[in-house]
Amino acid sequence: MVSYKELGFSNTKRMFEVALERKFAIPGYNASNLEQLQGIIIGCGESDSPVIVQITQTSLKYINKSMVRYMGKGCVEMANDLRYNIPIALHLDHGDSFELCKSCIDLGFSSVMFDGSHLEYEENINITKKIVIYAHEREVSVEAELGVIAGIEEHVKASDHYYTDPEQVEDFVNRTSCDSLAIAIGTSHGAYKFKVEKEEDIPELRFDVLEEVRKRLGKFPIVLHGSSSIPQKYVNLINEYGGKVSKAFGIPETQLKKATQYGVCKMNIATDSRILFTAMIRKYFQENIDQFDPRKYLGSARQELIEMIKKKNKEVLGSAGQAGYI
Ligand SMILES: [Zn+2]
Repeated sequence: MVSYKELGFSNTKRMFEVALERKFAIPGYNASNLEQLQGIIIGCGESDSPVIVQITQTSLKYINKSMVRYMGKGCVEMANDLRYNIPIALHLDHGDSFELCKSCIDLGFSSVMFDGSHLEYEENINITKKIVIYAHEREVSVEAELGVIAGIEEHVKASDHYYTDPEQVEDFVNRTSCDSLAIAIGTSHGAYKFKVEKEEDIPELRFDVLEEVRKRLGKFPIVLHGSSSIPQKYVNLINEYGGKVSKAFGIPETQLKKATQYGVCKMNIATDSRILFTAMIRKYFQENIDQFDPRKYLGSARQELIEMIKKKNKEVLGSAGQAGYI
């Protein structure tokens, strides 16, 4: 058992306080390999942004638990080496049981999410509450979820949206004492967020639901999952270089930016990095058919990820330059 404090992580308490106050969103970037982790730390370090490094259950299995702990610690040490003074949280994304959340807390995570959104309301409350008690004894943050976020992302599958019912949020937060709440207002997981033919047909997020939730919760951290914008330049690169990804559209950046003004202080971004990596690696292979060094093709994707993260932090989330306030 190890505390996240020994590894050098921060929990999300102070991050969210400052983000709510200054109206920006902390990025929750998902990672499943070394180059993504490096890209996240360098991108956020260079833009002076706080960051939540997110690992899903399937990535935990893919990487190996012990490796996650030391790669996580490596993120903190790397940031120190490079003289980045940014708070870093290590977060379990979509934990599906008390046991998993507990094991991640014991492994050194500073924040866990329990996703009980598919459960009956009372059962969601009971398990969330149990995790909160274990987590808060160790000053670990807990994110909970109400309402179903559609789409497919690894093991998280939901065929339809069930928007969060604003009438439930106060009761849920009061009874569970969770530290932040993921709500469903029309974002979804994965690359196929909308059944539309073109970008212009993407529907607006349900800002009315967000506003209602905000009214009832006051200054409480709200989280948006599925907040990738799926830059079309990477989708086009994939297709140009032999891939086939069609009609993949994300949440327009203008809408994400707008959400930061409504109390959304964390956005989960996973798919953008995947699309980017695939695009850059495809491009590299076709342009350099004689190369076989993983550092070359993964390195080109890593560099592009750094640039994307810097841009996102600055132009969409507003988290660039905020680390000093935390
Ligand atoms: Zn999610």
